Amino acid sequence: MKALRPPLRRLAGLLALCTLPMSSTLARAEPLEVSASFSILGDMVRQVGGDRVRVRTLVGANEDAHAFQPRPSDARQIGSSALVVVNGLGFDDWMARLARSGGYKGTIVVASEGVNTIEMAEDEHDHDHHGHDHDHGHGADPHAWQDLGNAQRYVANIAAALAAADPAHADSYRTNAERYQGELKVLDAEIRAAFAALPAERRKVVTSHDAFAYFGKAYGIRFLAPVGVSNNAEPTARGVARLITQLKAEKIPAVFIENIADARLIERIRAESGTRIGGTLYSDALSAAGGPAPDYLSMMRSNFKVLHEALSAP
Ligand SMILES: [Zn+2]
Repeated sequence: MKALRPPLRRLAGLLALCTLPMSSTLARAEPLEVSASFSILGDMVRQVGGDRVRVRTLVGANEDAHAFQPRPSDARQIGSSALVVVNGLGFDDWMARLARSGGYKGTIVVASEGVNTIEMAEDEHDHDHHGHDHDHGHGADPHAWQDLGNAQRYVANIAAALAAADPAHADSYRTNAERYQGELKVLDAEIRAAFAALPAERRKVVTSHDAFAYFGKAYGIRFLAPVGVSNNAEPTARGVARLITQLKAEKIPAVFIENIADARLIERIRAESGTRIGGTLYSDALSAAGGPAPDYLSMMRSNFKVLHEALSAP
């Protein structure tokens, strides 16, 4: 086309200006900045968000969210996020406080919303001062991600939140979530079938802290622990002695080290009970990139393999 006459050219320029902001919301070039409280959640957001999101995780691989001490710079960084995702159930209440103090005005997405919860044992309420905030009036065990059925609910909540924050890519979030939920479902069925094939009296183990109630309920394993749900209470001498007696009496096949917990107590229990160390379980955090649990799905598979091997050994 020949050059437009000046008035028309000006009109074309105005039109281009008008459409600019619209087209940039339709196809956001920059990924969505999402802050997640801990590594397992961060991975789930990455699986659903793909390259549309940039995820910042506050409590990293092999770190303990129960004992997390935020730095002042964390508040500023989370404050500027487009979306903040937490586990909820009293696990990471510090995250919402941090986000608000950093100026975050958006939604706090509670990934565990709607999962089937397990109530904590009564004594947890008395001994738990740090990790879990009972002001919310619930006594639910926060480690709900240890059941792949619950994880599918986490993924659905995350996908809905991402779609609401970035409607232009809602389809991509839904597709990713469905693909990922399918993978979680397959592993869930595999773990159920494998443990169901073991005799019930073999299906009991000891771990460092009480992080596996959901895993135990979903897959039929009894988990015993010297330390409660929050991982920062000191185990009592009497509690440890009782556990060792129980280990011997019930012929519990193995004790397990956790990636976020001090291994010395488990080592002592092993030595005094004469049982063996079954391996390392990933409870509240992923492993580093080169380890056996760099993402949530690998983490669940690794825990399953390590447990199954120890419990089916003669
Ligand atoms: Zn924990």
